[in-house]
Amino acid sequence: MSERTLARHDALYRLMLHLAPTDFGRRPACADAEDPEIFHPVSEAQVETVAEAKSFCAVCPVRRSCLEQALRRAEHGIWGGLTESERERLLRRRATQQPAVPRERDLVAEAVDLVVRARRDGGELSVSAATKALGVRYARARAAVLAARAALDTETQTGASGEVSAA
Ligand code: SF4
Repeated sequence: MSERTLARHDALYRLMLHLAPTDFGRRPACADAEDPEIFHPVSEAQVETVAEAKSFCAVCPVRRSCLEQALRRAEHGIWGGLTESERERLLRRRATQQPAVPRERDLVAEAVDLVVRARRDGGELSVSAATKALGVRYARARAAVLAARAALDTETQTGASGEVSAA
């Protein structure tokens, strides 16, 4: 198994750990690719290879999560249906469109991700940690954490609302 294939497996594993809650249990389409190296063409000019890889992404049920993770982690290769240079362009576009103050919906989406990660690590996200991670004031972070917990608890139907830790 080549280094690129190994790196692909590692990255895919990380992706599975950080899927959006709505994507849990869904199988990435590329997990069924006979040759994982198509997702790491030597050059993006290898149009047929790139197109073949993208054909998996086109029908992948976790494409959105995959793309967001790849954008956050600066992964190599094709992820979320985009090549590295396409993701770089997308990031540049987003940077210029980014509002100065994050919208509530974006904050909650980010908080959902943080809460899920904290719970997977066996803990609960504190508001102070969320304040730091989200880069917003305490009150906004607290509201986002509460909304994220409520959304997750409703989704999993555990009914556990939890207290917000001020630690
Ligand atoms: S979007 Fe593409 S790279 Fe990402 S998990 Fe799906 S098939 Fe794999």
